[in-house]
Amino acid sequence: MADSEMKSNESEEYEETKRRYDYDLFVIGGGSGGLACAKAAQECGAKVAVADFVKPSPHGYGVVTWGVGGTCVNVGCIPKKLLHYSANLGEAYVDRASSGWDHEKPKHDWGKMISNINNHIRAINFSIKTDLRKRGIKFYEKLASFADPHTIQLLNKKGKTELVTANHIVIATGGRPLYPDIPGAKEYGITSDDIFWLKKNPGKTLVIGASYIALECAGFLHSFGNDVSVCVRSVFLRGFDQDMANMLAKDMEEHGGVKFIKNSIPTKIEKDEETGKLICYLTSREEEITIEVDTVLFAIGRYAVTKDLNLENAGLKVESNGKFITDEFQQTNVENIYAIGDVIHGKLELTPTAIQTGKLLARRLYAGETTTMDFCDIPTTIFTPLEYGCVGYSEEEAKEKYGDAIKVYHTYFKPLEWNYAKSIYKYRNCYVKVIINTTENDRVIGYHLLAPNAGEITQGIAIAIKIGLTKHKLDNCVGIHPTVAEEVTDLKIDKAINPDPVKTDCCS
Ligand code: FAD
Ligand code: NDP
Repeated sequence: MADSEMKSNESEEYEETKRRYDYDLFVIGGGSGGLACAKAAQECGAKVAVADFVKPSPHGYGVVTWGVGGTCVNVGCIPKKLLHYSANLGEAYVDRASSGWDHEKPKHDWGKMISNINNHIRAINFSIKTDLRKRGIKFYEKLASFADPHTIQLLNKKGKTELVTANHIVIATGGRPLYPDIPGAKEYGITSDDIFWLKKNPGKTLVIGASYIALECAGFLHSFGNDVSVCVRSVFLRGFDQDMANMLAKDMEEHGGVKFIKNSIPTKIEKDEETGKLICYLTSREEEITIEVDTVLFAIGRYAVTKDLNLENAGLKVESNGKFITDEFQQTNVENIYAIGDVIHGKLELTPTAIQTGKLLARRLYAGETTTMDFCDIPTTIFTPLEYGCVGYSEEEAKEKYGDAIKVYHTYFKPLEWNYAKSIYKYRNCYVKVIINTTENDRVIGYHLLAPNAGEITQGIAIAIKIGLTKHKLDNCVGIHPTVAEEVTDLKIDKAINPDPVKTDCCS
């Protein structure tokens, strides 16, 4: 067949597909990944629709549901970072007073903060809807499920259904917080779905869990003056560099005053009807302990929201955690159906990962591009009082993979700014380490920083690592003085030779 004849057959087939379906692409889930995918597809000329529907949090505290934008916008990154920022402002009063400002310890108004944050979120919800409309992307505020591999059933709040068809379907339904299976958990406990919408300060709080969400929430809640305890089942920040995780926890405990109840799990929550307090029963090192608090916050992981999708109608398969195993093109076991973001099995649950995966998928589907998502060396930051930013291997992973070929350079240090209130910061330290592979020209394979604004610094280092940073190149970089970031250009101490260094020199 001649080239021109083949091309004309292909375009006829394309036109026929267009006639057959209502949309080229239907995206289920208007969160980080889904919206990025929908917009990229529209920019490539596809006819696109998005459905987003939020089921209320089971708790029933005040506002329990929210608008389009998914976890990040409504109950994740955005409100969390604003609370973290607000908490840091409160902590900074020590520095303000020592540097000459006439300041009493400030009082914090939780209600005002939350109301401003919630207004910001509503503005984002509104601007997302407006943007979708301007782009000609059809938005359904409806619960979507599969009727067959090309047909979506849409259910509105009044129970009315409609059917729409699409050539390609992307599942981007994200995750929701888990509750433990213990008495009183759903009745009395809250999760990250509630905390950012609480009208009143949660007061004395017990946080259950010891990973990203637990430590971030414990950090900001304590900075707002609350008594905070954390129930730690095993390790801090499973999967992260354990040196760093323990240092971060030590900083929160010794400098911050957060209490960690180690090796403990909750077994029951009850409410004292007279006082309104919650009594949480914990088993810790085979001992039963009780703790009386105002709020119990569960941060014990998240489940993928795929149960309501009627997957069997499309022949879709998921793992026991409800997530999809996809190939490198994010294709599920059904040819025309893809999965992105937090519903992909075994990948990082992060907003930029969901966004990038969604964009690349759309460009492969509608612009003939071939680039696939690279899940390696994705940087991340835990927004605890001292932020922990990292990219690449943890020391444990690097040792397991490369054995004696790795070298670690590190140092403790104090930001210049901490010198104003020396007595407060006397026992507090920041820390940075880079891990290199000596068999690969001293390539930097891991970087870890515990410091104020570590997130900002880590983004830059992640770019350098992505394009092949070596220790030699790092040593050849000129720092910006006097900054925290410059510490990474001045790493001379080999951890194997000096495991506990304290940097004393400055400006030399
Ligand atoms: P989501 O953003 O969760 O969007 C899914 C959407 O689909 C939701 O709106 C959901 O209601 C909707 N939906 C579900 N089922 C249906 C259905 N059947 N029909 C229609 N709609 C449906 N990541 C970072 O990178 N940085 C951070 O600082 C950060 N902080 C976080 C803090 C917290 C407290 C939490 C919980 C998460 C945080 N994350 C952070 C993770 C980040 O929010 C998620 O990885 C990201 O939002 C995942 O995007 P997604 O598109 O996969 O899903
Ligand atoms: P994780 O799955 O990361 O951690 C769950 C934590 O809860 C672990 O410490 C785990 O302990 C503990 N746990 C689990 N079950 C129980 C139980 N029954 N009793 C007591 N403790 C328990 O979940 P998160 O909720 O912290 O975070 C979910 C995801 O959201 C993260 O992986 C991250 O991708 C994303 N996120 C990103 C952020 C960022 O980028 N800054 C911030 C917040 C979230 P154990 O170690 O013993 O299993």
